[in-house]
Amino acid sequence: MLGAKAINKMKEISLSTPQIGEEEKLALCGVIDSGWLTMGETVAKFERAFAELHGLDDAVAVNSCTAGLHLCFRALDVGPGDEVMVPSLTFVATVNAALYVGAKPIFLDIGGVSMPHISLEDAEEKCTSRTKAVVIMHYAGYPLDLSVWRSFCDAKNLMLIEDAAHAPGVDGVGRWSDASAFSFFSNKNMSTAEGGMVMARNASFLQRIRRLRGHGMTTDTLDRDRGHAYSYDVNMLGYNYRMDELRAAMGLVQLAQLPEWNKRRYELTKVYRESLAAHIPEVLVPFGYTHETAAHLMPVLLPTEANRQKIMAQLRDAGIQSSIHYPPVHQFSYYRERFPTVVLPKTEDFCAREISLPLHPSLTEDDVKRVVESLEKAIHGP
Ligand SMILES: *Cc1c(COP(=O)(O)O)cnc(C)c1O
Repeated sequence: MLGAKAINKMKEISLSTPQIGEEEKLALCGVIDSGWLTMGETVAKFERAFAELHGLDDAVAVNSCTAGLHLCFRALDVGPGDEVMVPSLTFVATVNAALYVGAKPIFLDIGGVSMPHISLEDAEEKCTSRTKAVVIMHYAGYPLDLSVWRSFCDAKNLMLIEDAAHAPGVDGVGRWSDASAFSFFSNKNMSTAEGGMVMARNASFLQRIRRLRGHGMTTDTLDRDRGHAYSYDVNMLGYNYRMDELRAAMGLVQLAQLPEWNKRRYELTKVYRESLAAHIPEVLVPFGYTHETAAHLMPVLLPTEANRQKIMAQLRDAGIQSSIHYPPVHQFSYYRERFPTVVLPKTEDFCAREISLPLHPSLTEDDVKRVVESLEKAIHGP
């Protein structure tokens, strides 16, 4: 006979799971059969399709969002002596990219636990004559108010960069900033296993990003193959941050399903919100029902007195994965050693109480209810 624990374990509810299958396999085989593996038409097609979904003409595919952020800083000439305002409630790559170019990160606190975006007041306060750019990150898929941040940056003559890793396919994302970077890592809303995309509304910035992606060369392999060019020059220090044809082929298949997946994710967040409000109203869900979102994550805040580690362990025993998004960047030892005076009370409170519940398009409404029941038991006891 199975014990209660073993029965619960029969269906594991994972935090996220890649949505991949036959179509992706066929697309990958198509590239292999074509014999052209990188820097070809598939990447170009993926770039244009991704841009079009966001209301732009073109984009630059890269091998990760982290590489994309690095290119944004390079293309916008952010470097030593410059300050870049960043969130601490983000994945470490957002801030690492500023360090790659020698800029100094200025950490901004969030507005509050129910709207955990960086605070405009904090930005006003911390802006100096050395500030060159602001990086906004659409936490959990909920976009910041882009027109407000655009006006702020215009008034202060700052570059606006979006870390849009959580928010592909959200209306407005990518259109207001000077440059935006997206991720196709395996746990994101769409995936190419590893991969990313960069957009910029200014064509010359985008061209610079494209050059920087490929060693700073003035022409690429495709042009030379077509006989458009016989040689090339190198006029900047570039990188190899290219995406290959296999990933682009997979990306095209994924992109076609992204709007539907985002919608499904959003519907599941509504089921979560209703169920949480009914059963454990002391658990706070950031943002509102009506905030447009790619619903990348389902973050919730536990009551201040709750023991998060114990609750996560109990969820795990009930076959439910959970995670923390994120430990604040300024508290990682690498950052603490370099920026020891940073204190962000609201971010620290949020990050100490946050847990992310399972959210992906193949989750059922019953799964969501089981997660909420298990969370209720973990908080209140059986
Ligand atoms: C995943 C993620 C990244 C990094 O993306 P990679 O493609 O893995 O480099 C950067 N920023 C945020 C907010 C992320 O969630």
